[in-house]
Amino acid sequence: MKVLMVASEVAPFARTGGLAEVTAALPAALRRMGHDVRVIMPFYRCAAQTELGVRKARKSAEVTLNGETHKGFLRQAALGDVPVYLVENREFFSRDYLYGTPEGDYPDNPRRFAFFCRSVLQFLKRMDFRPDVIHCHDWQTALVPIILRLEAADDPFFARTATVFTIHNLAYQGLFPAPAVAETGLPSALFTTEWLEYYGQLNLMKGAILTADLITTVSETYRREIMTPAQGCGLEGVLARRGDDLFGIVNGIDTDEWNPAADKRIFRNYSARALAGKAADKLELQRELGMPAAPSVPLIGMVSRLAEQKGIDLVLELLPRLAESELQFVLLGTGNACYLERLNSFRSKGAANISINLGFNDPLAPKIYAGSDLFLMPSRFEPCGLSQLIAMRYGTVPVVRHTGGLRDTVVDVTRHPREGTGFTFEDFTADACWEAIERALAGYRDRESWRRIMRRGMHRDVSWHNAAGRYETLYRMAADTRRG
Ligand code: ADP
Repeated sequence: MKVLMVASEVAPFARTGGLAEVTAALPAALRRMGHDVRVIMPFYRCAAQTELGVRKARKSAEVTLNGETHKGFLRQAALGDVPVYLVENREFFSRDYLYGTPEGDYPDNPRRFAFFCRSVLQFLKRMDFRPDVIHCHDWQTALVPIILRLEAADDPFFARTATVFTIHNLAYQGLFPAPAVAETGLPSALFTTEWLEYYGQLNLMKGAILTADLITTVSETYRREIMTPAQGCGLEGVLARRGDDLFGIVNGIDTDEWNPAADKRIFRNYSARALAGKAADKLELQRELGMPAAPSVPLIGMVSRLAEQKGIDLVLELLPRLAESELQFVLLGTGNACYLERLNSFRSKGAANISINLGFNDPLAPKIYAGSDLFLMPSRFEPCGLSQLIAMRYGTVPVVRHTGGLRDTVVDVTRHPREGTGFTFEDFTADACWEAIERALAGYRDRESWRRIMRRGMHRDVSWHNAAGRYETLYRMAADTRRG
């Protein structure tokens, strides 16, 4: 099959979170299965700085939005044997951030991503690449299915092209004030509750949910959750209407990149059979972060965006308790300015057993996954979550809230002593989280059974192979609807 993956971020060209890892690893897995998969994304300033040889491809597009014409140029690179196209427009994409500064989103985001989506469709024609499926990710790419269904339905070039739209996080919907409709180039007639309007605003995600041939999200539990008022972020009705076309597929991780037996970023390699190296990684991490080198003190790690979603409020509430306990806690994260400020102020108190590291730090993250005994992920909601998968692969036992993808990937040790891979809690409260941490700390003291928990997590299949197979099946279903 011919598949075009459209995404606003793809690692290592541009990355703010898990999405970029998915849009890099899934195409590679599908390529291995023999499909002609290509990827297209914006050419941000950070993408120009990667060492992956982004070259000019001598193709251009012209997009008129709200009376102004913007020119785009195609660039090309490769990730292994996956061609990656990048859409260049300096005004829109040569900026310091992808979506906005720490103070807030870029106000011209509707125009930036409308330009991107419309350029993508033009470049397909210039390249004469007719995909069986265009697979779009999150609201930034929502205009692709919207345009193909509502504006270009009669375009013979796309007659046999189906669309699949993946919701990585329903909390980000591409919601803009009504005048933004003009910025997308769509006729104002589509600004009705039937298609794009949501309580007086433009909602791009809603449009994609209604117009894509098939919709997916990144775990089965999240699929169910987003069809309820509690977690549907207002789109539960729209999603339920398309419930038969909505599928949940848990993400994998790149098991070559995340492999404790071969990872060059960590101090000492180890595996489920030979765990000794992990103790060395722990000591090295303690040393690097300036914490007491204490082999038998349980070390809890956390690598996270600092966003409300991730349960940072619970962590802030728990910090004094963590500081008083016989354990160590390492946090790496960046994001929301108010969390940064509160974490900074806690850091200034100088608790010796707590290390707070603020920023996006690619070299430090693997050291935390490898050097920690436990991994904390108290998410308020979690579509899938990659961090807990990485943690388990590194023999670091996750303590997670029982929600979304965390529920589908972590089995509670207390309830399932023979199959358990982590410790889970239900209520979104600091007390419930603390209770799970205490259970984990008690488990940690029984070294033999702890190693069994570690090994079960390490042996779990977290590769992309299964997920890619499920996407392949869905692509065929979607393509069949086009062949009629
Ligand atoms: P989300 O995409 O919601 O942020 P995921 O768990 O799906 O959460 O993916 C997060 C990914 O980003 C993980 O690979 C994690 O290690 C990485 N990550 C998050 N914050 C940082 C950071 N501050 N520094 C380095 N890597 C980070």
